[in-house]
Amino acid sequence: MKKRENLFPETIILHNPYPQPDTYNSLSMPMYNTVAFEFETAEQMESAFTGRSAEHAYSRITNPTVQNFENRVKAITGALDVVAFNSGMAAICNTIIALAYSGANIVTSHHLFGNTFSFFNSTLREFGVEPRFCDLTSEEDVRNNIDENTCAVFLEIITNPQLEVVDLKKLSAICIEKEVPLIADTTIVPFTVFHAKDFGVNIEIVSSTKYISGGATSIGGLSIDYGIFDWTKSKKLAEFARGFGHNSFTAKMRKEIHRNLGSYMTPQTAYMQSLGLETLQVRFEKATSNARKVVDGMKAFKGVKSVNYTALPDNKFYDISKLQFGDSPGAMFTFDLESREACFKFLNNLRLVKRSTNLFDNKTLAIHPASTIYGTFDEPTRVKMNVRQTTVRISVGLENYRDILHDFHQALEEK
Ligand SMILES: *Cc1c(COP(=O)(O)O)cnc(C)c1O
Repeated sequence: MKKRENLFPETIILHNPYPQPDTYNSLSMPMYNTVAFEFETAEQMESAFTGRSAEHAYSRITNPTVQNFENRVKAITGALDVVAFNSGMAAICNTIIALAYSGANIVTSHHLFGNTFSFFNSTLREFGVEPRFCDLTSEEDVRNNIDENTCAVFLEIITNPQLEVVDLKKLSAICIEKEVPLIADTTIVPFTVFHAKDFGVNIEIVSSTKYISGGATSIGGLSIDYGIFDWTKSKKLAEFARGFGHNSFTAKMRKEIHRNLGSYMTPQTAYMQSLGLETLQVRFEKATSNARKVVDGMKAFKGVKSVNYTALPDNKFYDISKLQFGDSPGAMFTFDLESREACFKFLNNLRLVKRSTNLFDNKTLAIHPASTIYGTFDEPTRVKMNVRQTTVRISVGLENYRDILHDFHQALEEK
């Protein structure tokens, strides 16, 4: 992990101060569970509502507890601004809507989280925004798909469940040359480990539901703006950029988009996810070390055709994964069995590991993506997305890894 202002991220997470004085000298940031805030004078009210002062007015727009959560993420990532939403999908929608317009296109991949794919392919399409699904590992394909109406290139850093890894430095070089912002969904490897800005990512999206919430307490999302894109190059924000410069995206988001779409994080969620942040790195280290041991143990089990994890030397993306994410590319892996029936049998035989859709709960979870997350897609779409009927996805938790392996072993052996 990289130091920032002489402290390591896990220290910053714990010690980033909240505004004092507090009436009771509370050691942790209290939860301000309120809709509105009171003003002393009409003049103060005017200046807050017109944006001349930064006081809180209404919790759909800002709230002290949510702001404290955002500030902690800002301190860890060194971002220009962080906006917290009530889901990862809301973070994606708000971010894209801030940049897209009717007639625009988004260059992305078929390898996307199910709802992100559906948002691009159905919701956005109906508003005249064209998703261009291409092979983001091919420089040529990316170049051929970007044109003057491309409002963003969007990708996931390790795709779920295909586990594809794009060389971000190469991709961001194309984005810089073509003057298009690069948006990365980094949910699979947290920002304590993966430093998106160093790889040329302009805006980072995180579903904080996953690693950050900790113990799967709450749904949330983050849009993290590094302030490094020249927004005069964005068709939609160019006008804005004359007044706001590098702050243009943040200004558009804060002053218009997120207020209008109304999907700000709640103070309860921010409180829980702030606690999650405090243990994020410890949980990540334990879950990824467990993942590695389970992956290694699984290979010998009966009926397992392949185990897919980008930290395995036989994985197609091993080198680039190591360069970008180090030795611990998350706690999610997949494996393939003979058939869909074998996958169902495995899932039904589990005694300890839970059949559930989430990622990075403290408990280990297993799912058959093709029949669930991608269950309503037709088979040709699933084939294009490389979602196989023979794949089981595992999110490794914090149990003793021997108990996880034991459960997988018996589930594969059982008739
Ligand atoms: C879960 C997930 C999302 C969506 O997040 P929600 O918080 O469920 O809305 C987006 N991207 C990835 C990679 C995810 O795993």
